Amino acid sequence: MPKPIKHRVYEIAKELSVNTEDIIDFLNERKINFRNRFSAVDAETYELIKSIFNYGNLSELQRCIACKKVATQSEFFRIVKSGNKIIVDESGKAQGRGVYLCKSFKCVDIIDERRILDDIFKIQVSNELYYTLKEKIRM
Ligand SMILES: [Zn+2]
Repeated sequence: MPKPIKHRVYEIAKELSVNTEDIIDFLNERKINFRNRFSAVDAETYELIKSIFNYGNLSELQRCIACKKVATQSEFFRIVKSGNKIIVDESGKAQGRGVYLCKSFKCVDIIDERRILDDIFKIQVSNELYYTLKEKIRM
């Protein structure tokens, strides 16, 4: 049986002609586990990195924190920590760390039930945010 191909972070960077640091940031932002630039990522992550970095513009494609779907930024809510509040970033340009979420009740329920935002932002997110997100979907 052939040995499975290992996709190491620094090799992927070389292959795609991008900075290793950019890929590392990307993996960290999405909480994808890896140890360092010499670590290999699984095939799914490799494909994700390729799809996003090959696209040419890192900000174009994002991934939903609930269902992991990859799509263009405009299909998602951007949720940002601003000071010690979590807000829905309508402009898509608000300062701060942003995460992306499908504009679907299903994905809002997932992050509500699993308290995913609490984990990511290390803050207790109020239920109001989930109401706000659902209101926006209804609009
Ligand atoms: Zn989703």
